[in-house]
Amino acid sequence: MEINRIESNIVCKIRGRMKMARGKYSDMASQYAYMMRMLSIKAQKRLVFGVCVSILGGVSTFLAEVILIKLIINGLYHQTKLSTLFGWILLIFAISVFTGALMYFFSLYRQKVNAEISTMVAEKLMKKVRDINLKKYENSEFYDEYNRVLEKGDKVFIQGLNALNSLISSVVIVVGIMTYLFRLSALVIVVCILASAATYYLNQKIIKNNYKMFTETSTDNRRLQYIDRIYYLKDYSKEMRLFNLSPMLRDKYNRVFEQRINKQKEYYRTNSSLSVVSSFLPYLVTYLFITLYTIYKITRRLLQIGDFVSINNASFQLINRFNLMINRVNELYEVSLYIGNFKNFMERDFTLPQGEALVEPQLDVCLEFHEVSFAYEEGHEVLHKISFKLEQGEKVAVVGLNGAGKTTFIKLLMRLYDPEAGRITYQGKDIREYQIDSYFSLFGTVFQDFKEYSFSVKENLYFLKTGETEDSSAADILEKVGLKHKMKEHRDFLHTEVGNEFQNGVNFSGGELQKLAIARSIAKDGKIMIFDEASSALDPLSEYEVNQLLLNSFQDKSIVMISHRLSTVVHADRIYFFEKGRIIEEGSHQQLMEQQGRYCRLFQLQASQYGK
Ligand code: ADP
Repeated sequence: MEINRIESNIVCKIRGRMKMARGKYSDMASQYAYMMRMLSIKAQKRLVFGVCVSILGGVSTFLAEVILIKLIINGLYHQTKLSTLFGWILLIFAISVFTGALMYFFSLYRQKVNAEISTMVAEKLMKKVRDINLKKYENSEFYDEYNRVLEKGDKVFIQGLNALNSLISSVVIVVGIMTYLFRLSALVIVVCILASAATYYLNQKIIKNNYKMFTETSTDNRRLQYIDRIYYLKDYSKEMRLFNLSPMLRDKYNRVFEQRINKQKEYYRTNSSLSVVSSFLPYLVTYLFITLYTIYKITRRLLQIGDFVSINNASFQLINRFNLMINRVNELYEVSLYIGNFKNFMERDFTLPQGEALVEPQLDVCLEFHEVSFAYEEGHEVLHKISFKLEQGEKVAVVGLNGAGKTTFIKLLMRLYDPEAGRITYQGKDIREYQIDSYFSLFGTVFQDFKEYSFSVKENLYFLKTGETEDSSAADILEKVGLKHKMKEHRDFLHTEVGNEFQNGVNFSGGELQKLAIARSIAKDGKIMIFDEASSALDPLSEYEVNQLLLNSFQDKSIVMISHRLSTVVHADRIYFFEKGRIIEEGSHQQLMEQQGRYCRLFQLQASQYGK
């Protein structure tokens, strides 16, 4: 009874293991099928070419180390003619030279295809990242996953292709060597297989540990990269010095580093022991066995001297190939996990849902919020039942204290986020029914924290691809915002780079950068202009200049303007006063002043401060 129970336990365990292994290998196969589909025909050709070259390499080594050596030793022993021996040597030499030449051409070809693969993967990632719903960025799990995919990027595909190439060719070579050895001694093959199976098992454990360690430490890695960024990026350099951030950053860095080391320590310890045993075991066992076995056969005159050398060499080639195969299978497994990450990331939909409708540019602007509520995190609403309307040519201002929800309101208006409740409509249609790019084309925006790019001034205006020209209108727009004169001082004019990151470009002051941002929004020519604190970082003179510029440049457009300084919004057609995510007052400046409410008090407070 007891024995039966133990037997059935063992059978159950083996079945369980086999089921797991089947699942693991079918997952692996599906990841590589995905990889080959994604990389397309070029990579498939590279794989076939690579496998042929590797097999030829294995064949020429086998011919030289196993066959030729046996022929020469046995030939010398049996006094074969020297010219015949030289003939064999020449033939194998010629095969080796031919293989070497092919390897050279393959290496050039491989570099070219690898570069193409990198570009293709980068393009896919860029496209995916561009369409990610901004709300995802609030989720740290998403951010970790996103970072893991970006960190490995194209490298996993090139590594996967190399490993696949090496595995397929090794399998062919192993079958060849085994066929050769089988005629002489099947036992040698069995010993090699057993020793290598042990290595495989141990290496699997190492890989699983590495992957677990990588996943467990990915938040730490991201923190360390973040601190690195603060150290090296120009954006942070002023505050770094001014606030003496360095001691705090170093302290944080050291603590996170230590935390990561503590997590890694146990894995490193286990992996070191496992890898010592796995690299030692197969050689020791097979070396002892093969040497004793072949010596025994020769003393019994069952083998010749040439066979002794040949079997030894073939066995060690077999072990090396087995080990290579094991490493490749392990590597393929490891890489398949990262390909799996990439595949999941690419297949999951992170975009905001969109419809098919296109905005009709000839129709007038009519944008409405119908009792819209929104929360970044569940249960923490930052906008409550907002109702709002913007019509063709209207100039509307959004005001309120910090944290009142003004920027969030603008993000919803531009459909960077979707509301939790309520609807936003454009020309009577829910904005979710429009194609996102078509809806985005409605807006020209000037943000307070707008970004300038280390590209040419023209590229900063239009973001056009090479070859697309807009020189004349670019110059007109720069003239309008008062930057043409400055650009004329530069030999490359519109093609001068912004900033000094890569070459001696043009440096703009804060006010000039705001003008560049305005120039960009003029270039975009949207029907609705959004100014989010567009002039708040400027001194009063520049602010006045920029505000005049805004008013003059966009007279015929609909405008939504966020401003802290209420003096800049007095001419707006309508003013919305936000407080704690609600619109608490609404009307023209005159009406709001007459209401004597929050707007009026804030206006008087600011006026008295400016008056001082
Ligand atoms: P305002 O522009 O009026 O200063 P915001 O719209 O920026 O206000 O912020 C409104 C509220 O939403 C604030 O309480 C702010 O802390 C919160 N908030 C803003 N951005 C995020 C975000 N990305 N994740 C979570 N909360 C946010």
